Amino acid sequence: MDNSTLKSLLQEYEQKRIKANLISEQNKKELYIKYPRLEEIENKINLLSIKKIKDILSSNKNDIQITEQSIKKLQEEKEKILEEKNITNLSPVYECNFCNDTGYINKNGKTIMCHCLKQKLFNMEYNKSNIGNIENENYSTFSSKYYSDEINESKYGLKISPRENIEKIKKISENFINNFDNPEEKNLLFTGDTRTW
Ligand SMILES: [Zn+2]
Repeated sequence: MDNSTLKSLLQEYEQKRIKANLISEQNKKELYIKYPRLEEIENKINLLSIKKIKDILSSNKNDIQITEQSIKKLQEEKEKILEEKNITNLSPVYECNFCNDTGYINKNGKTIMCHCLKQKLFNMEYNKSNIGNIENENYSTFSSKYYSDEINESKYGLKISPRENIEKIKKISENFINNFDNPEEKNLLFTGDTRTW
């Protein structure tokens, strides 16, 4: 995988986040026009959250408790209004709930790639290869007729004809697939140029 694939995917993720946030802001605006009390509550919660940080920094336990209670009360009121008005979500709706469309999650204190980004990377790499065309290019459509049956070691570097050689390779590959779940089965490695004879 080259870095440009990841880079373009992360740009795509950023665009998705921006879009989700914009939609959420727009929805909020419309909602606040309809129900101004919701905006009042939101603003109060924001101010109290800042106050709470100040309380924590000044280690004023009494104030922290009062601030927390006020926030809780406001949140309850907000939830009640949302429930009454049948409003389900004010937060941005992201495609992936695990990473909120950032592509990364925190696991045991470590930042790791989210499964959604992994899958997208896999799909992109998969499509770049011809493996994605498996419906048309598979064993049932494979034909060795395109390979010469001439035996010419100096020309082909083989003691057998290219056709015999490709049929041998096909057999080895089929055996490999048929024994794929056998732990004793060895790996297959294809090397060399891509070409037909
Ligand atoms: Zn994700």
